[in-house]
Amino acid sequence: MRAMPWLQWPATRPVGSSPMGTGTTSWCTDMNLRHRLKRTLRDLYSLAFVYSGVARLMARRGGARLLILAGHGVDGAVGSKRMPADLKITPERLEEILRALGRYAEWVTVGEGVARLDSGQGCGLVALSMDDGYLDNRTQLLPLLEACDARCTVYLEARPLETRRVSWLHQWFWLERRLGASEAGRRCALELKGNSAVLNEVLAAGADAAARGLKRRLKYDLDAEPRDRAVQAVFEQAGGDEAALCEELYLGVEDARELRDSGRVELGGHTWSHEVLTTLESEAAREEIERGRSTLEELLGVECGESFAYPFGRRWDHSAEHAQAVEEAGYQSAVTTHAGLNRPAGDAFQLRRWMLTETLPVHLLVTELCGGFGLLRRLGLDLVE
Ligand SMILES: [Zn+2]
Repeated sequence: MRAMPWLQWPATRPVGSSPMGTGTTSWCTDMNLRHRLKRTLRDLYSLAFVYSGVARLMARRGGARLLILAGHGVDGAVGSKRMPADLKITPERLEEILRALGRYAEWVTVGEGVARLDSGQGCGLVALSMDDGYLDNRTQLLPLLEACDARCTVYLEARPLETRRVSWLHQWFWLERRLGASEAGRRCALELKGNSAVLNEVLAAGADAAARGLKRRLKYDLDAEPRDRAVQAVFEQAGGDEAALCEELYLGVEDARELRDSGRVELGGHTWSHEVLTTLESEAAREEIERGRSTLEELLGVECGESFAYPFGRRWDHSAEHAQAVEEAGYQSAVTTHAGLNRPAGDAFQLRRWMLTETLPVHLLVTELCGGFGLLRRLGLDLVE
């Protein structure tokens, strides 16, 4: 069956544009129209699938499948700006999702889920995963897992755990809050001196463009070393305290042990310092993966390390070479941030996950979990990717 081209994203991004980014106006308009059409169809189909009772009928039929959810932080404090909105979900919303999906499926960790798929015993499995290793995973998430009888895989960035240093990204978020994106970008450009052209281009386009585009340019278009040095310098000049920020945001070793010892949490790897693997030379990327794993093993014991999460997780953030390095480092599976459902025949090192947001409707997750979107995929129509 041929795919329906009018609802497919382009296979590759247009030449000359940043990832997720800055293509021509007509390309963007076309994408926006297709995106809106797809979202509307997806919602209507999904509502019908769930509220007609078909989801319930299919929940335990149709063969082995594993739905994996992905989040970062769980933060319910009113007005909290500790983390950007797209990196957190409130405990109330997460509890609603956990309870709803628990009525259709069995909670497993990612490692258990993959093993069950391999053995063909995986009909109706759902796994929650949280990336980076934030402190609220112990304080907010763990009580929820207990209340909802759920499980979770927490993918730990190793460097904050060992050295109490944070990635440039959290320094940047802190600077955005403290100075605003434009001023933070202007100061970073000054520090970058001869390397500042990519930031100046965004800054010249105005405040809105700065808010949207600077992080992407820092992430993809600059070498890690000068970028880290520049962001660190601006962070310190503005009064930032890296150790305090790390304590506020990240799990410590004892927190991670408490999660592991709860019996509800599997710990997994997420590299040493959360760099985009495709921006690194091959050896450096391999070192990121291996050092992340060996550090977790030294700090927490050999129990961690069934599963791995690629930093940022989009297909342009990692490659087949990195998947091989992950496998050779000793992991059994790896997760991306592309939405979809995992089946036994799928690639265990390209597992799909649905990213949790405060507004993601539960009916979409139930539809995916019960095979509703899978039916359409067999007809050549993917309403999810
Ligand atoms: Zn991450």
